[in-house]
Amino acid sequence: MSLSLNDSQLLKTQAYIGGEWAPATSSATFDVINPATGDVLASVPDMNAADTKQAIAAAEQAWPEWRAMSARKRSKLLRKWYDLITQHSDDLAQLLTAEQGKPHAEAKGEVLGGAAYVEWFAEEAKRIEGDLLSPQGPGQRELVVKQPVGVVAAITPWNFPSSMITRKVSPALAAGCPVVIKPAEDTPLSALALAELAHRAGIPAGVVNVVTASHGAEVGGELATSATVRKLSFTGSTAVGKLLMSQASDTVKKVSLELGGNAPFLVFEDADLDAAVQAATMMKFINSGQTCICVNRLMVHENVYDAFMEKFTAAVDQLNVGNGAEKGVTTGPLINDKGLEKVEGLVKDALGSGAKAVRGGQRHDLGRTFYEPTVLADVNPDMACFGNEIFGPVAPVYRFSSEEEAVRLANDTPYGLAAYYFTRDPGRMWRVGEALEYGMVACNTARFVHEGMPFGGFKESGIGREGSKYGIDEYLEMKFLCMGGL
Ligand code: ADP
Repeated sequence: MSLSLNDSQLLKTQAYIGGEWAPATSSATFDVINPATGDVLASVPDMNAADTKQAIAAAEQAWPEWRAMSARKRSKLLRKWYDLITQHSDDLAQLLTAEQGKPHAEAKGEVLGGAAYVEWFAEEAKRIEGDLLSPQGPGQRELVVKQPVGVVAAITPWNFPSSMITRKVSPALAAGCPVVIKPAEDTPLSALALAELAHRAGIPAGVVNVVTASHGAEVGGELATSATVRKLSFTGSTAVGKLLMSQASDTVKKVSLELGGNAPFLVFEDADLDAAVQAATMMKFINSGQTCICVNRLMVHENVYDAFMEKFTAAVDQLNVGNGAEKGVTTGPLINDKGLEKVEGLVKDALGSGAKAVRGGQRHDLGRTFYEPTVLADVNPDMACFGNEIFGPVAPVYRFSSEEEAVRLANDTPYGLAAYYFTRDPGRMWRVGEALEYGMVACNTARFVHEGMPFGGFKESGIGREGSKYGIDEYLEMKFLCMGGL
């Protein structure tokens, strides 16, 4: 099925640098593929380090005017961008589903949830406040002022092609920073459409730039090592995050990293099982399991394990795999062959080590990168699926026997992004909530992401927080200003 956008100008096939739509200097391009059908949706510029330097220079040039603009005016421009994103949310969702695979309703939710960050930071732009400190001596005044950090690089992943961009770009813009975006190679079209709407909103040339490339390393390396880029915000794999952090160290760049997770989902014996099943099914299979806060391993108390499994498998039976553009589909394809092979390898390892596939366990009949919604029983903590981020529609379930064991296993990982637990015991709610070494912990719910909460992780899951009243600080420098001799 081809695209049928209401506004065909939202399908952009050039990069966006200094307010202009631009090809790569080498004129190279790469194809963007619909993972559900294999159709080529578009070809976009395959840019290199020289193109990236141009984008950084455009951002640097735009910075003085952007930072000098009144907060109120910046806020109005962001608000206009928000209005345009929401007005065009159907088209943006259609593009997103086509390049990424998630069902249309989920894509629309992402676009609107992503727009909410723009609205939030349009408001926060007006609330960047400093402090007046108690001075050290007479004739002296001491202040803390907050200033924009400078040119920001945003490197984003394919699993949320729209909201990962708005979540980084809107606080940067609100703070007074220009941005160079490098979207994931699988999903550049959402990024380019957002740039088109930023252009229409009147955001000045050079304040938002998008550099497309078929491989992250060259453009990403230029962004991470450039002395002009003062801040790097990355969402993606832990391996690439570590590499970028080391590359950024040469210029002692500020970094925000949102990396992999290994989310535990604990079901205690006193849990509301229906609520736990509903939450586990939603947070395991959303985006076909391809989110960093997706449930990675379920741990269920032995006294309720059988009852939980019965309800959970019944819920999984309701999932409907297919092309996300079709009505009624709940579970789209995986993003690409690499993703599929990883999932397949983890399931084979588990089955070979004694786990049982009580649902699914193999590629889906639909072919391509579709995989069956899978539930693995009798999983143990030594299996690779327990310690590695699966990023697919596979739910490994482990049977635990004590709260101490469940918390110890939950924390026994280098990751620390999101964790979930279900219990009705108020004492346990507090104990477990405080003991879990995770940046985001949800008790008796799996719905917690919104623009007003601080998103981010402990340990190797990342550095910094996105969204909320804290998120703008990532794009601000704190300056101590001491005035003497008054
Ligand atoms: P995933 O494994 O989920 O695709 P990646 O971390 O590889 O996650 O990708 C996230 C983003 O990082 C994408 O925009 C990708 O192009 C970019 N990227 C990949 N490799 C590098 C690299 N060596 N340097 C900079 N960016 C990279």
